Amino acid sequence: MSDAPLLEVRNVSKYYGNIIALRDITTKVEAGAVTCVLGDNGAGKSTFIKILAGAHQQSEGQLFVEGEEVLFDSPRDALARGIATVYQDLAVVPLMSVWRNFFLGSEPVKRLGPLRWIDQAAAKRIAKEELAKMGIDIRDTEQPVGTLSGGERQSVAIARAAYFGAKVLILDEPTSALGVKQSGVVLRYIVEARNRGLGVIFITHNPNHAYPVGDRFLILNRGQSLGDYAKEDITQAELTQLMAGGAELEALQHELAAATGGGGR
Ligand code: ADP
Repeated sequence: MSDAPLLEVRNVSKYYGNIIALRDITTKVEAGAVTCVLGDNGAGKSTFIKILAGAHQQSEGQLFVEGEEVLFDSPRDALARGIATVYQDLAVVPLMSVWRNFFLGSEPVKRLGPLRWIDQAAAKRIAKEELAKMGIDIRDTEQPVGTLSGGERQSVAIARAAYFGAKVLILDEPTSALGVKQSGVVLRYIVEARNRGLGVIFITHNPNHAYPVGDRFLILNRGQSLGDYAKEDITQAELTQLMAGGAELEALQHELAAATGGGGR
């Protein structure tokens, strides 16, 4: 294997008509490391994910997977290169069992002549084993995912992506709907995924969630990068300050627009 990063983003911009959603973004994700993408609403986080996940194409700039330039036409292309995205709301189907959620249509099958059926015993065993690797002990994989805690639910999706060959995991605001305790659960799974050698892209607006687990921090504000720092180059206080500065600027601009009757941007 080369020592190129798992995923590299070079000078990527995205325009929607004349709206600049992202401008000149550069960062990277190494194997066994967590890159955090921080930003408030409208910062460009969703646009960034869509480009990495192959849902949208960048207008300018380049993506490299393990040193090789790639152009994704669809999410299938990104997945084929080992980039898997776990969307907060779509991660699991609550009424379905844990093991069904783990496989979601890719269950192991048994065959006899022309007959095929799901190998339930194997599916349940694999799901249990893979979740155990993430530190989750599921007593009965028949139980609906909806009965798990919020943090554990996300981890089912993370374990699934890892099992099906993901090298880069994109986690879309996995902690934003969770309380402190459950956020801690998710942060632990992020560390587990990193320890297993995956590259993790952790999208969040919370520097307190990002700093303890992150190795690199890309801060976005209104589509622009406020910096792309290795952990040794930024303290938690500086990161918080940068985020707060961005939020404050945004609030001030809104106030100003309202006060001058200007509206919009
Ligand atoms: P975030 O996820 O950080 O809230 P987004 O990526 O959703 O930010 O949005 C960044 C900017 O791009 C916003 O100004 C948003 O209005 C704009 N934008 C996002 N998607 C589209 C789109 N499909 N068409 C036009 N503008 C868009």
